[in-house]
Amino acid sequence: MKVYSFPHGGISFEDPTAPPRDESALSFLPSLSIVPLVAQNGSRSLPVVKPGDTVCEGQLIARRQGAGSANVHSPVPGKILENTTWNIARGVLCNSMVIRMEGAFSLLGKTGHDYDWRTLSPFELRELITEFGVVDMDGTGVPVSDTISLFHRAHEPVTLLVRCVFDDPWLAADYVLCQERVESIALGALITARAAHASKIVLAVSEPEKKLGINLLEKISTEAEATLVLVGSRYPQRNTRELEIVLHQYERKEKQHFGALLCMGPATLAAICDAVTLHKPVLDRYIAVGGSAVRRPRVLKARLGSRLEQLFDECGGFTARPKRTAIGSPLLGRPVFSLDEPVTAASYAVFAIRDEHGGFNKNPRVLDLRTRSRLGAERPASVPFKLDYARANKCIGCGECRTVCPVGLDPEDLYKMLIARVFSRELGLLTARCHGCGCCEAVCPSRLPLSRLIINPAGGGS
Ligand code: SF4
Ligand code: SF4
Repeated sequence: MKVYSFPHGGISFEDPTAPPRDESALSFLPSLSIVPLVAQNGSRSLPVVKPGDTVCEGQLIARRQGAGSANVHSPVPGKILENTTWNIARGVLCNSMVIRMEGAFSLLGKTGHDYDWRTLSPFELRELITEFGVVDMDGTGVPVSDTISLFHRAHEPVTLLVRCVFDDPWLAADYVLCQERVESIALGALITARAAHASKIVLAVSEPEKKLGINLLEKISTEAEATLVLVGSRYPQRNTRELEIVLHQYERKEKQHFGALLCMGPATLAAICDAVTLHKPVLDRYIAVGGSAVRRPRVLKARLGSRLEQLFDECGGFTARPKRTAIGSPLLGRPVFSLDEPVTAASYAVFAIRDEHGGFNKNPRVLDLRTRSRLGAERPASVPFKLDYARANKCIGCGECRTVCPVGLDPEDLYKMLIARVFSRELGLLTARCHGCGCCEAVCPSRLPLSRLIINPAGGGS
């Protein structure tokens, strides 16, 4: 079977400090949960409970208010202690409910009633997905009902693209989920395809995980038209743009037409399955916990609202004081300001990196990609970041950033024009093509903030 890959750029990203992808461990239930009521884009949900109220596990605590926001449910039974303000992402201040766990769990450990979704109309399926607050669990946190509503009235055929692409070792949580909940992912794909009026399902699976792809294909193709497309595992193959490139290659070769592509990851599909077949909101998620400062990296199944400090403790704590802690992959992670920050539905990984240089080869020409990515990961990050003009022009002209850019940009050139503040329409058009994969930063031996400045030229203001 042919393997499709985007034509140029990208990196083979390895990181020995990422958790192993063998199995998940159940995290302790949090005695105090912090549940944000604001999505990552700042959209707010309206609280329907107040401090002093008692809530059940899975009870609605905040209602969606239009596009961008989602229904929020209590991950544990307990008492609402306060409605506090919390810094959740990209500097966004949001309301959060602090819940002290008490009382009996009504959903935990129970298989639940299996509702027959096949008798439901696409509209009813979308209503259930909305009601149980399913959001994109691949890092964006966008409500799935918003995404599906963009497609179900499309004027061209819609294809559901199931993304099982592991181009980053920090996708360990998704990998373990695929091993442990393959049935739910397949069912979630069938439900989503019906809800979005998608006529086909395409499984984009990294070539080393071919077995998983065949397994999913067998389960889905009994009820829907499905195709398996093997793709490369070079980062950023899982980006929508790189996936579209390889699927267009496939369409040309196989003389097929997929139309508009609705892309969903395995964690989101499993959550859709739970919402529709069990009437269960998103209460927990698989999360990869690791980094050079963490004693025992592993994949945990954690309740939403659990504090990050608790997760690190369950991984044996820190071996040294972390220099950088962030949510997501080291290539694109956003900084964590406090270890009291909670796990949200979109938290697929969290890492802590210690200030270490021992053992690193200091010669940038012969650094291997693994070491470079760790160097990149150790850059202190802040949002918005300030450009360090003392080291801003430390480019040694090695040209590595050009070789890895999947879009064919010249990050060195763009960076130099941006720090010199030589703005022009052409420069604006070029920077607009950058999709922020972070490859250029990961390989830059001078550790320059290339992608951060290219994506957000104003962000590097003095
Ligand atoms: S310039 Fe943009 S697209 Fe190119 S490698 Fe850097 S971040 Fe990625
Ligand atoms: S990788 Fe860094 S040092 Fe090398 S050319 Fe690009 S910006 Fe300059």
